[in-house]
Amino acid sequence: MRTFDVVVIGGGILGVCVSYVASCLGLRVCVLERESDVAQHSSSRNTGVVHRPFYLNPETKRIFAIAAQRSYSPLQEICNAFHLPWCQNGTLEVATKEEQVEKLKQYAIWAKQNGMNEQEFEIVYQSELGKMEEGVKGYGAFYSKKDTNTDFGQITKSIAKISQRLGTTFLFNTQAISISCGVVKTQASELKGFVINVAGGEALRLAQTEGVAHKFAQLHFRGDYWVLHEKIAKSFKRNIYTVPRYSKFPFLDPHIIKRPNGNTEIGPNAFLVRTPYSYKGTLSALFANALGSGSGSVSKRLKLFLNREFLSLVANDWLTSISKRYIAKRVSAFAPALSHKHFAGRGVSGIRHNLIDQNGFVPEAVLIQTENSFHVLNYNSPGATGSAWFAASIVKRLVNTGFLNAKKGVTPPFWKSLIEEDEGWKELRVIFKNLR
Ligand SMILES: Cc1cc2nc3c(=O)[nH]c(=O)nc-3n(C[C@H](O)[C@H](O)[C@H](O)COP(=O)(O)OP(=O)(O)OC[C@H]3O[C@@H](n4cnc5c(N)ncnc54)[C@H](O)[C@@H]3O)c2cc1C
Repeated sequence: MRTFDVVVIGGGILGVCVSYVASCLGLRVCVLERESDVAQHSSSRNTGVVHRPFYLNPETKRIFAIAAQRSYSPLQEICNAFHLPWCQNGTLEVATKEEQVEKLKQYAIWAKQNGMNEQEFEIVYQSELGKMEEGVKGYGAFYSKKDTNTDFGQITKSIAKISQRLGTTFLFNTQAISISCGVVKTQASELKGFVINVAGGEALRLAQTEGVAHKFAQLHFRGDYWVLHEKIAKSFKRNIYTVPRYSKFPFLDPHIIKRPNGNTEIGPNAFLVRTPYSYKGTLSALFANALGSGSGSVSKRLKLFLNREFLSLVANDWLTSISKRYIAKRVSAFAPALSHKHFAGRGVSGIRHNLIDQNGFVPEAVLIQTENSFHVLNYNSPGATGSAWFAASIVKRLVNTGFLNAKKGVTPPFWKSLIEEDEGWKELRVIFKNLR
C-alpha cells in the first residue's frame, strides 16, 4: 500500500490548490483523479467569472464572501505569471423589476461589509443604464467594476504543473471507491494518508462511505450555455446579470458573459439531471428523472418537490434547455433586442451539485472532519473564485490543529502571504465526527 502525508481525492481547482499549498509546506501529497487530466468537470465547465462578493450575504454566505475577497489577488498573480486571460470587464447586475432596486442598495452594503473598496462599485440609475450598455434595459443596476473573465480550467492546469514540480504525485484514471480510517480504496489499489475529499459531484457519496454526512442529500443541476452571433455580441461590453428571481434557491438567472476567447455567451440555466456527469440529453421524463437524481435520502428530495416555487424553477429551466426561443424570451427581460435567431450554437455545459437537508438547499460549503479525513461538500459558485484562500485555509487549519505534520517546506513560488501569513483558517466552521 502506498503511503503519503495527504491523499487528495479530486483534481478540480480546489484539489489542485490544496495539493499546491500542502506541497509548499513540505508534505508528501498524492492527488487521485478519475479522469485523464485535471479540471475535466466544474472547474472547466463554468461561467469563468472571478466574482467580487457584492451579492453574497455576509451572514448566510460568509465563507464564500471571505474566500472571494481574499482569493482575487492570488488568482491574478497566477494569471499574470502564466500569461493566462485576466479580462477585467466588470459586471452589471440589473434590476428587471422596480421592487428589485432596493436589492441594489443592499448589494452596496454587503460589498462594503465583505471588504470591497467603494471605488470599485457604483449604483447605476435607470436613465444611465442604456448609455452604459445600449442593449440593456432595467430599473437600474449594480456595477461591479473589477469582476473579471478568465479560464479556470487553464488556471487549474498551471497550478497543477507547479504542484507537480514541488513533488505532488498525480494518479490519473484512478477512481476512489471508498474511504475508511485514512485508507482510500480505488479500483486497483489502496492508498494511505490523511484524506482530503474534494471530489465535486462524488464528494457526498464518498463521505457517506466513511459513515458521515448522512443527513444530506444531493441534486445535480446542469447549466447550458449558448454562444451569441458576433453582430449582437458587440452590443454587450460587460457581463450582464440580473437580480435573481428565486432568492431562496442557489441559482442565478441566465446572464450574458464575455469569454476571454472572444465569445459572448448566454447561460447557464439549471436543468435537473440524474448524475454528476449528465452533460447531454433533455428528453427524460422530468419528474421521474428528478426524483431519481442525486444521492442521499429520497424523503428530503420529495419535500423540495412539494415546494411550488421550486417546481416552477425546475419546469422553467427544463424549457430553457429544450428551447432556444424560451431562453431568449427570459433574457429579453433585460436585453430586449435579443432573439433566438442570434444564437450561433451551444457552448459548454457544466453541472452544479447542490446539497439539501431537511430545511431545503444548504447555502454554504459544508466541511466535515474526522480523525483521518476532511470532506468538502456543496462547493458551488463562486467556488472557483474562492479556491486559493479556501485551499490554503483547509491545509493550514489541519497543520495548525495537529492533524497534518508540516515539514521544512519551501518558499512558496506564488501566494506567499496567503500561505505564510493569512490567519484565515480560523474562520472555517468545521463539523467534527468520530474524533477520538
Ligand atoms: C455552470 C457552472 C457555472 C459556474 N460559474 C462559476 C463562476 O463564474 N465563477 C466561480 O467562481 N465559480 C463558478 N462555478 C463554480 C465552480 O466551477 C466550482 O465551485 C468549482 O469548479 C469546484 O471545484 P472542485 O475542485 O471542487 O470540483 P470539480 O471541478 O468538480 O473537481 C472535482 C474532481 O474530482 C474528480 N472526482 C470525482 N469523483 C472522483 C472519484 N471518486 N475519484 C477520483 N476523482 C474523482 C472529478 O473528476 C473532478 O475532476 C460554476 C459552476 C458551474 C457548474
